[in-house]
Amino acid sequence: MNNLLKVKNINKSYGDLKVLQDVSLKINKGEIVTLLGPSGSGKTTLFKIAAGLIKQDEGEVIVDKSSRIGYVFQEPRLLPWRKIKENFNFVQRNFMSKEQAKKLMAELLKLTNLENIIDSYPEKLSGGMKQRVEILKALSINPNLLIMDEPLKSVDTQTEVNLRKMLLNIHTKKNIDIFMITHDPEEAALLSDRIYVLSDRPGKIVKEFKIDKDKEDRTLKDDQVYDTINEIIDIFMELVKDYNWV
Ligand code: ADP
Ligand code: MG
Repeated sequence: MNNLLKVKNINKSYGDLKVLQDVSLKINKGEIVTLLGPSGSGKTTLFKIAAGLIKQDEGEVIVDKSSRIGYVFQEPRLLPWRKIKENFNFVQRNFMSKEQAKKLMAELLKLTNLENIIDSYPEKLSGGMKQRVEILKALSINPNLLIMDEPLKSVDTQTEVNLRKMLLNIHTKKNIDIFMITHDPEEAALLSDRIYVLSDRPGKIVKEFKIDKDKEDRTLKDDQVYDTINEIIDIFMELVKDYNWV
């Protein structure tokens, strides 16, 4: 099967609050796929359902048996009382031998440019570093699919550019596919093969975009990137046009 992960007809409410409505999407081998939606549209809810942390009311999550998934949560989950390297040993010990773990870690530290912070405690790190550490932690189980909830949120532009480059390297050099959640049309259009656009709450998929332009060679000036961003903004404008602004 070509789908690493499939989400089918998901509905979810918290009490009377309907959050997700009939959401279906899939991630194929070789892809970076983004779920893009405004704040409060149910993105983290879908992430948690995909990760098996909460249960949907209706619908299915189908994980292919070839899939090994690394999760990057929206809130950092490093243990503050452990040094960075101890945070990893802690995650890895259930998945591989000590030798394998050591070899993989050396490779990942290089890939994420984190070789110098391995002996620090989490609180010493900047926001961008913390985010890289979270990604490194997810990679430390040697996944073939990385699922990330807003990995580039609240970092400055330079850090965002660096992180984007890093994610592309992870994808192209390690053949790790990516399912990423974001609220940022630029980020989505610069990185993704496909973008699912979620409406505001209750979140339903209102459009799917496909971008063919080589991911390693994109800029905001590329026609396809530019047009996609504008179309997404138009969709969001349309969704809010009946709001009663006060
Ligand atoms: P997003 O990640 O797109 O910002 P969330 O999935 O976090 O959206 O939240 C969607 C909506 O569901 C929000 O209105 C939020 O307040 C609400 N919500 C999220 N988690 C819970 C919960 N455990 N109980 C009740 N409401 C929740
Ligand atoms: Mg969220």
